[in-house]
Order: sequence, then structure tokens, then C-alpha cells
Amino acid sequence: MKYFLLLLLGCASFSSYAQKFQARAIRKHIEFLASDDMEGRGTGSLGEIRSANYIATIFGELGLKPAGTDASFFQPFPVKYAIEGNLHQVTARNVAGFLDNGATKTIVIGAHYDHLGKGFQGSSLTTDSRNKIHNGADDNASGTTGLLELARHFAKNNITEKHNYLFLAFSGEELGLIGSKYFTENPTIPLASVSCMINMDMIGRLSNEKGIIVSGWGTSPVWGKLIPDLVKAQNLKYTADSSGVGASDHTSFYLKNIPVVQFFTGVHGDYHKVSDDIERINFEGEAKILSIIAGLLENIDKETTDPQFITADNPHTGNKTSDFKVTLGVMPDYSYSGKGLKIDGVSKARPAEKAGIQAGDIITKLAGKEITSIYDYMDVLSEHEKGEKVEAEFLRGSETKKVSIIF
Ligand SMILES: [Zn+2]
Repeated sequence: MKYFLLLLLGCASFSSYAQKFQARAIRKHIEFLASDDMEGRGTGSLGEIRSANYIATIFGELGLKPAGTDASFFQPFPVKYAIEGNLHQVTARNVAGFLDNGATKTIVIGAHYDHLGKGFQGSSLTTDSRNKIHNGADDNASGTTGLLELARHFAKNNITEKHNYLFLAFSGEELGLIGSKYFTENPTIPLASVSCMINMDMIGRLSNEKGIIVSGWGTSPVWGKLIPDLVKAQNLKYTADSSGVGASDHTSFYLKNIPVVQFFTGVHGDYHKVSDDIERINFEGEAKILSIIAGLLENIDKETTDPQFITADNPHTGNKTSDFKVTLGVMPDYSYSGKGLKIDGVSKARPAEKAGIQAGDIITKLAGKEITSIYDYMDVLSEHEKGEKVEAEFLRGSETKKVSIIF
């Protein structure tokens, strides 16, 4: 009986190893990248260099070709940022590994590996974040891990695909997509040979209720054609966001007219806080997402033409808002996938600030209309004139508040 039981257990663990992506391997990378030794992978920091070396070593072991500058895996670039009014200038680096299948077209697979360091470079949501290590297990050790595991899968599958793959780990993302912008301005392979770009930013918190948020849906018809079946096969659901412009590095490629798609498991209470740690990562969930992305790459190979680029409907670019006669003076949080319009920041002396609305508030009702998304918000704006007074309802934490706003 004892032996029989052991045998059963053996089978169960064997079948989980038969998966393309293993939770165990995912855990190992995140353990390293989100450890305190990496000091939060702040752009240009020692922890960033250690993380970059870890990524480059794995690229090398997998037999990828160095695709940075000077025949190395690294692409250094300058970064300037201010800490409490003092300007700092540092050198950061992207890490680039090329899987050469002898094809004419290359698919870029990307993820940023930098995070908020020790909380000095701003954008931490932890109160008094200074000198506290922000491990960023989900943001974005999870995506970097995805990059490493997809590289391993495609380097070791003994298949010569119809595309080459460029695996790109970006730095400087948290300071404003600096690394990916630098790459697209100083590409190490011709951008004309890039067929599409797949980005992973925060793929470690999969929940069945929320599912996956797929951005860039409107940048090519190929995403809508291929992704739904792959998601379904993993028994998951997804939310599609049309825009190619968002809060991560795919934006830099979209702005070069390259079809982009980004995978994201949504924001959470630990977002940009010191509590974004490995304990809350869903490793099995990430394995499922990587299976979807690997399946997507395999299916792109079966298409007769390369992904077609289309200009997406971009509510995020502000093109539409420039037509409005009124605005609230708020910066929406584009990574927010819940109901309502979440505010990332408010402009001084504009209607929202005057009415007492703050960063973090979620507007749920405006001028008598339910606000479920940024589109509803834009609809309301288009119906009003300067000087008009409307009522707004918003959530601050669990509290519902009502205010009057004068446009
Ligand atoms: Zn991120």
C-alpha cells in the first residue's frame, strides 16, 4: 500500500513536469530577481547590474547570440532622474539575446526587469518608502521570468521556427519606459525586420475571477484571431484592451508602427509597494500564461502572412481629449482594470483637485452617468461646457464620496 501510494504520487508529479512551463523553474527565477540581494533592481544600481548579469548568463547558457552593443548582451544607455530635486545621472542597461533561426523576420519578446530600488527614485506607493527595498516580485520579476522561460523553451525545443526571436529585458521602465524607448531609437537589429512585439508586465498574480488583461488588441487583427482559443484552452478568461499605448514597454514599439500585445494579470494592493513579494505569486498561473504566449508564437508561425499593423483606437493618447471643451485635470491609471476611472494623479488648480479628488480615488459616477471605464468618462466630457456644474461620485478606499465639480 505504501509503495502503491508512492507510485501514485510519483505519477502526479511526473504529469506536472510534462507541462511546457514548470512552476518550480518560475519560482527559482523570481526567488533570485526579487531577493533582497537585488535591492529592488533600481535603474542604474548595483542590484540592476546583478540582475542584468543573471539574465545575460542564462541567455548565454541557452546559446542565444549577444544582441546588445559591442558584441555583448548589454545595451547601456544614459538615464537622468531627480531625487528630492537633485539630478542624478546613471548608466542603465537593456539585456538582449537573439535566437537566430535564419529567418528574415524577428519577433521581439520583452519584459522590464528594473523596479523601484530602495524607494528613492519616486513612484512608490508605500508611505515613507525611502531606504526600503522594493522587491517587485510581480512588477516585474514575473515578466522577466517569463522572458527567461520562453527563451529556454524556444532555444531547447529542437524546432527551427519561421521567425527569429529577440529576447529583450528592459531597464528604466519605472522611470518612464526609458530602456525600451532607447532601444527603438537605437535598435540593435533593423526595426523593419521586427514582425511584432510581445510584452509581459506583471503576470504573477493570476486569479480566475480577473483572468488576463491583454493590451494592444487593436494593433493587429492577428491577436483577436489567435488569442481567444489559447486562453480558453487554459480555462481562463481575458479582458481585451484595444490600445497600443499603455503603461509599459510595448508602447515604444507601437509608436514605431509595430503590432504589439501585452499580457498582464492586473493591479493589486501591493502594486508599487514594498509588499510586492514572492509569497503572493501564483506560479502555476504564470505557467499557464507562458503556455498561452508560447502557443501564440507557434500559431503566428502557422499564419501565411506576418501580423498586420493597424492603428488602434487609443483612448490613452489624449488625441480625443484635445477635442473636449472641458477636462477634470486628472491622469487616469491605465493599468487599472476594475470598474470606474481610477486616478493616478491630479493637476493643481484644475476642477478635480478643486473638488477634493485625490490620486487613488476611483470615479464611479459623473453628471448622472455611471462611469465603468475611461470611455464613459470621455463620453461625459464631450457633453459639457466650461463653467457647468456636475455631481460626481467616487470611491476612496471602501468609502463612497459625493462632490460637486465645476468644469
Ligand atoms: Zn511594471
